[in-house]
Amino acid sequence: MTGKAAALLAALVFLGGGCRERDAKPVQESWQVMGTVATLSLPAARAGQLPSCVETAKELIGEVNGRMSLFIADSEIARLNNAAGGAAVQVSPLTGACLALALKYAGLSGGAFDVTVGPVVRLWGFSGGAHPTALPTEADILARKAHTGYRLLTVTNGTARLAEAGAVVDLGGVAKGFAVDYCFDRLAPRFPDGLMVDIAGNLRCAGSGRPGRPWSVGVRNPFDRDRIIGKLQLTGGRAVATSGNYEKFVTIDGRRYAHIIDPRTGRPVEGMAGVTVLAPRAGDADALSTACFVLGVDEACRMLDGLPGCSALFVPDREPMEIIVTPGFAAAFTPEPEFKDAVRIAGR
Ligand code: ADP
Ligand code: MG
Repeated sequence: MTGKAAALLAALVFLGGGCRERDAKPVQESWQVMGTVATLSLPAARAGQLPSCVETAKELIGEVNGRMSLFIADSEIARLNNAAGGAAVQVSPLTGACLALALKYAGLSGGAFDVTVGPVVRLWGFSGGAHPTALPTEADILARKAHTGYRLLTVTNGTARLAEAGAVVDLGGVAKGFAVDYCFDRLAPRFPDGLMVDIAGNLRCAGSGRPGRPWSVGVRNPFDRDRIIGKLQLTGGRAVATSGNYEKFVTIDGRRYAHIIDPRTGRPVEGMAGVTVLAPRAGDADALSTACFVLGVDEACRMLDGLPGCSALFVPDREPMEIIVTPGFAAAFTPEPEFKDAVRIAGR
């Protein structure tokens, strides 16, 4: 598994004991999409419905990808980018909704989450950019940054426009979570007793994986991808997303640079190893995990305070490992015994 399904939240850990039927593992199927892996899980009793459920999920997630991928020449986002500096382009209600979600979190994060950071993302070798052979110069960065800023993007009823030639929208920080919601919202009414939709660690759950037991996922140790730092219980249709510095990165002059860019500096974020966000919906969790990664603990907590049902776990990129959780996150999180002493509540 390439993406964060493996990296961040892959270990599905099911709690408690019980009789044989209660112990039957959920059934699941995975497939490649959006440059990563999607996984759909149902309780064992629903095994017979897995194939039709997966077929629907493939269609829905494929639709989001087809409309919003940077790498599909005639996707709506590719057309928007090609028309940058010119007229507005028509967008479907679906793409309009994802762009609006992106703009909502751009505003709430003061521009830390900014889908127009695309030209800078490419400069550092991500989202289709050539791998840099040397560290980009300040002049290179400023030249690219000149074409960024979420205020360049306007979304109105049925159209979207980028106000400047050279501007690029890159939905890599929100589209996977958005696709999880699109799929979840349509499938959950059919599977209220148990459903998990996961795209690379952006996931949302309904019901339980085994009768009477909530879905539980492992939060991966950013410093040791084979281990988890704790387990997170997901109840009430909640969603979770993780952003990390250890899955997608480039190495320049022997140093690693992660794929999340601070739009204010035009440079990859340093100082954070991983952020996991719990939110009512997966699109929000996805945008927020990227935003919190950029903002750092204090500013991120201030933003999250104003967002009902949203909470986070932070692992700064330093030793010894610290696990900083907001009170809302602490209520759903059980650290592994060896990491218990590393946990502290944000602001205390
Ligand atoms: P992943 O794509 O690995 O799931 P994220 O959800 O954190 O991780 O999104 C990172 C992606 O978002 C990058 O690969 C890039 O396409 C895009 N991106 C990078 N920096 C930002 C930013 N500051 N705001 C919005 N999107 C960003
Ligand atoms: Mg994200």
